[in-house]
Amino acid sequence: MVCSGKERSEFTKSIGCGPFAIRTKCPNCHKEVVSEPVYRATTNTHIIAILLCIFVLWPFCCLPYFTPCCQSIDHFCPYCGVYIGTFSD
Ligand SMILES: [Zn+2]
Repeated sequence: MVCSGKERSEFTKSIGCGPFAIRTKCPNCHKEVVSEPVYRATTNTHIIAILLCIFVLWPFCCLPYFTPCCQSIDHFCPYCGVYIGTFSD
C-alpha cells in the first residue's frame, strides 16, 4: 500500500481505521502490525462538554473526555511509532 502524497483522510479511508486496534501494514517499517489506538479530544469533544455544562449539569461536562465516541482515535505503529491513520465519527 502506497500512502505518500495522499491526504490523511484519504489514507485513513483506504485502511479503514476503526475505534479499536486494527491489523495493517506500517507505511514506515513495512511490517504487519496491530495498530496502537490513541484517543484524542477534538473540537466536537469540547462543544459537547460545553453544551453538557450549560444544559445538563456541570459535573457531566468532563464526560465527553472519557467517552471514545466523542473523540478521534489516532493509530500508531507499535514498533516504530509512526502515525498510520485517524478514526473519527
Ligand atoms: Zn512501523
